[in-house]
Amino acid sequence: MLRKVSMTPSLKKKGYKQRGPSTAYNPGRSCSHWGFSIMSLPRTLGELRQSPFSEQRLNTRRVKDEMRDNLIAKLRQGGPIFPGIVGYDDTVVPQIVNAILSRHNFILLGLRGQAKSRILRALTSLLDPQAPYVAGCEIHDNPYAPICRPCQEKIAKLGDSTAIAYLAPEQRYVEKLATPDVTIADLIGDIDPIKAARGGHELSSEYTVHYGLLPRANHGIFAINELPDLAGKIQVGLFNIMQEGDVQIKGYPIRLPLDIALVFSANPEDYTARGKIITPLKDRIGSEIRTHYPATVEEGITITAQESWTQRNGHKLHLPKFVQEVIERIAFAAREDKKIDKRSGVSQRLPISAMENVISNAERRAIHQKEALVVPRIADVYAAMPAITGKLELEYEGEMKGADHVSRELIRAAVAKTHDAYFKGVDMQQIVQWFDLGGEIQLSDTASASEALPSLRGIQGLMEKTVKVGVGPKDSAEIQVSAAEFILEGLHAHKRIGRNEERVFTAGEKQPKPAEKPFEREDAPFRGRRPYN
Ligand SMILES: [Zn+2]
Repeated sequence: MLRKVSMTPSLKKKGYKQRGPSTAYNPGRSCSHWGFSIMSLPRTLGELRQSPFSEQRLNTRRVKDEMRDNLIAKLRQGGPIFPGIVGYDDTVVPQIVNAILSRHNFILLGLRGQAKSRILRALTSLLDPQAPYVAGCEIHDNPYAPICRPCQEKIAKLGDSTAIAYLAPEQRYVEKLATPDVTIADLIGDIDPIKAARGGHELSSEYTVHYGLLPRANHGIFAINELPDLAGKIQVGLFNIMQEGDVQIKGYPIRLPLDIALVFSANPEDYTARGKIITPLKDRIGSEIRTHYPATVEEGITITAQESWTQRNGHKLHLPKFVQEVIERIAFAAREDKKIDKRSGVSQRLPISAMENVISNAERRAIHQKEALVVPRIADVYAAMPAITGKLELEYEGEMKGADHVSRELIRAAVAKTHDAYFKGVDMQQIVQWFDLGGEIQLSDTASASEALPSLRGIQGLMEKTVKVGVGPKDSAEIQVSAAEFILEGLHAHKRIGRNEERVFTAGEKQPKPAEKPFEREDAPFRGRRPYN
């Protein structure tokens, strides 16, 4: 999902290589509601007039009308409006629906990683499967009302034999990340003096304009991410296009009555900060819609499961639910933590990247130990710190402590909460006692399950508790070890038992430290064992 979708390559080229639907057609979509098959799409203006793409139908149907019509059809049909967008059904989606029904330009206000770009890209699902335009036109002119001079002249000369090409919905979506260095030339266009000199045109003639991103999005959707980062001058240009269809390029007035649905995204604080957005532009944005992070851990798990790369070649994966919950709760804990900057938020990309790293660490262990089944453990979550630290914007207090320390604390808090969800009220005294009596066990993240399991079985009262996470003695060693380790990690998170950097679980700190040689234990096989890694 996080792929950057920018202009389609064909848009970047000056002339269109594509000839009609052979390249533009997306076989996943059906054209049936237009009443003809793909093979019979009109090829000339004359044919187009006689088709369901009639002048009467197309000429007054602007992009926002098209989106509205297709949205109404979807609403009547029932089912999800934006498949794959989770947790917004009762909040964000109804507001977007209203904005589109109102034919508004709209902005999504939200923190990092709240699927803003994803929603904007999903708007292409509201475009017609095929959109005819004057073949070869850089700005996809409506064949019945071309706005560029070359098209007007072409149609005057060729009449009904003017060639028609088609755009698929994905080709009608242009996205731009706003940065302070975006220029009018990038966004709207530039006057090309060489073009003018060669063709003998006046500088202000449409023949001499080299179009920017916005005109190239004509007859489609144009998305600007992080709108407040756009310089004031560019915002004025944008406003003029929205308002009047007029714009000045290098002082020359150019008339461009574009047909575009403009959508934006921004961080709410940047957007509301005084002076960041020019007032007339703000006025022209019909709806402001707030996005949010998943409201429940379950929703977060659904999103992370959907977005992270988990189905890999090679090893079979068994992903325990409690590992999913721990990973998700790291993000939840981080969003609440005072040491982390609230204004920038904690992206859903944190649990997504963490999940991928957790699985990779488990995969690495499986390869190393020649295990058939990849089963992540809590140790793998701690090993996934590189996927976590970079996604936290720390406040002063957090910076003092360091990202590593803060992340470790978050994982620990997440483990404690998840542990509670499964083991609240369960008597763990026997296990704690085993450690209090001097028992120790090292469980490194590279330890093989077959080696670790007998040691874990030696801890009285431990293995029988794994039923609480749905694991029993008939499950594979990898699964049993993961469940048992989760219990120990939970007790550690609650400070009932200790664990050091080498991942040796010991008695909790509250216990008086045993003397140099406490007493000879018969079950001390774990002590002399060499570290697994
Ligand atoms: Zn044109």
